Amino acid sequence: NVTPQWLPAWDDDEGARRATTLFRGRFGTEPDGVWSAPGRVNLIGEHTDYNGGLCLPINLPHRTYVALRRTGDGTGAGPSDAVVRLTSAQEADAELWSRPLADVGPGTVDGWPAYAAGVAWSLAADGHDVGGFDAAVDSCVPYGAGLSSSAALECAVAVALDEVFTLGLGGDDAGRARLAAACIRAENEIAGAPTGGMDQSSSLRARAGHALLLDTRDHTTRHVPFVLAPHGLALLVVDTRASHQLADGQYAARRTACEDAAAQLGVATLREIDPAGLDDALARLADGALPADVVRRRVRHVVTEIARVTELVGLLESGRIRDAGPVLDASHASLRDDYEVSSGELDLVVDSARAAGALGARMTGGGFGGSAIALVEVDQVDAVAGAVAEAFGLQRLTAPAFLVALASAPAGRTR
Ligand code: ADP
Ligand code: MG
Repeated sequence: NVTPQWLPAWDDDEGARRATTLFRGRFGTEPDGVWSAPGRVNLIGEHTDYNGGLCLPINLPHRTYVALRRTGDGTGAGPSDAVVRLTSAQEADAELWSRPLADVGPGTVDGWPAYAAGVAWSLAADGHDVGGFDAAVDSCVPYGAGLSSSAALECAVAVALDEVFTLGLGGDDAGRARLAAACIRAENEIAGAPTGGMDQSSSLRARAGHALLLDTRDHTTRHVPFVLAPHGLALLVVDTRASHQLADGQYAARRTACEDAAAQLGVATLREIDPAGLDDALARLADGALPADVVRRRVRHVVTEIARVTELVGLLESGRIRDAGPVLDASHASLRDDYEVSSGELDLVVDSARAAGALGARMTGGGFGGSAIALVEVDQVDAVAGAVAEAFGLQRLTAPAFLVALASAPAGRTR
């Protein structure tokens, strides 16, 4: 019998206490406040964001906490005192990182401080009067699990800077969309990670008790109710703890295949392909850099996955979450067989969770590792987690980590 390892979420008291204690210890003074932002998990709509498609993330109860103190004026008032100093409990052996804000830019910051200082840089680049600050970070969002610890860090810093430098963006959705854009720019240009905008949009804009339907073609959003308890259900998230070394090259290859197919079909993005006309579109694809057969499967995933997002939204909006299992299963099969981005560990989570009674399960995130989700009866959460842990144990794989996802509040002030 294998005991599953749970990753509990901190409550706000614990997160604020930890970040504040770290801040006092490293900076010898009190922070102006504590802000926090959640990680996220995508319910469905994978590898659709660079195809103008739809995705449907929820915020996790797991958050990154940032205790922060404004130390200088805005850059306009006095650039000389605009120094950024950072520390993180997750980077214990790192020295206190310190850098004039004027020296932060593309290619100038190595490692984790890029995600935090990068947000100050991109807000300043967007014309906002951001100056020096000290920040201490602590988090219960796991690193590199596909649950977006990077966006949680960026978005917590963004709402903190918004408030201490009175940028006036955090108060409404339009302002939060601008904060999200600044975080995306920091991740792309300062941290050098070519990600889409799902993570930051969710962390800043999704509501508690709701998933965020994000349309990456026109950047519109819709809040879709996602509360499972009244239906006797829960969403189990399994971090496979498997490394995804292949991910970068494979991600680029999938993007290129989609762009080539769109060019062959004479459309801007694969979003333009009507599911009803999918077979006709597939028949028109010819051999190119990749064999036509491979390109057809890539296109079929993207077009059917976008349709599955709409299908799941329909079920959620009509209170039929219990019927969602097959939609999750179909998404996994499509990612595994047509898009070929799953892994042995992800397939094992999905298969063992289903065998133990999950209504449906799928990998989530870019693939090749990271996490999977399973929709389970509330009273079977422990049994399903135990079965997945046991399956990993039998194959002598690194023990996975488990958490239960409740659609949680977006980034904001905690203390
Ligand atoms: P994911 O977003 O899926 O967790 P990423 O590779 O995008 O994985 O981001 C992980 C990186 O983000 C870490 O390696 C680190 O550089 C940075 N990061 C995330 N959370 C923290 C934190 N609490 N403290 C310091 N750096 C962090
Ligand atoms: Mg990330």
